[in-house]
Amino acid sequence: MAALEKILAAAGRAQLKGVLTDQARLAGVGNAYSDEALWTAGLSPFKPAAGLSAAQTASLHAALVGVLTAARDSAAGLAAGELKAEKKANLAVHGRAGSPCPRCGDTVREVSFADRALQYCPTCQTGGRTLADRRLSRLLK
Ligand SMILES: [Zn+2]
Repeated sequence: MAALEKILAAAGRAQLKGVLTDQARLAGVGNAYSDEALWTAGLSPFKPAAGLSAAQTASLHAALVGVLTAARDSAAGLAAGELKAEKKANLAVHGRAGSPCPRCGDTVREVSFADRALQYCPTCQTGGRTLADRRLSRLLK
């Protein structure tokens, strides 16, 4: 928790999604699990890292621990070839754009970047706002 607070404070206005997946800042959280943890904590992927309240930081910390622990537990005992399907089956929002959010039923949305995409629930994470798709916005300029 203290370690996460330091990382977030040091990241300043950098967006949560980028900070969580930056292996130099926080090792071991990839694209999928950062989407899941942000959804679990109810935080926007684009929120500035240093802008979290103490309660939001605690919630994000619990979400990261919970998501990673659940992933480890569900992977235990599986053969390498089964891991990908098992991981996918347990994801709430990552890779599920267009599907209903398991918590509120809103449609899971996606923001695409050049090399990857993130998924989130507008109702659970952004106060109902749909985030601009950066790739599409650039094309429309
Ligand atoms: Zn939702």
